Amino acid sequence: MPQALSLAMLQELIDIPCPGCGYEFEIQLLDIRVQTFRLCPCCRVQIHFVDDGSLFGALQSVDESMRELRRFF
Ligand SMILES: [Zn+2]
Repeated sequence: MPQALSLAMLQELIDIPCPGCGYEFEIQLLDIRVQTFRLCPCCRVQIHFVDDGSLFGALQSVDESMRELRRFF
């Protein structure tokens, strides 16, 4: 994985499942990089994104989206 993600990559939308209710919704990788949080549109739980190096392991369920992103690598 490259040291820096391109802006194009950061603007890519990926689907992540809500840890609370399982509802899948779109976020931008940028949301993760800035370590923000989003509200689940379904159950309104706060989902925090922490870029601690385990991010991509934690998001294995979005593997399909990540394969798409690898076009940029
Ligand atoms: Zn939810």
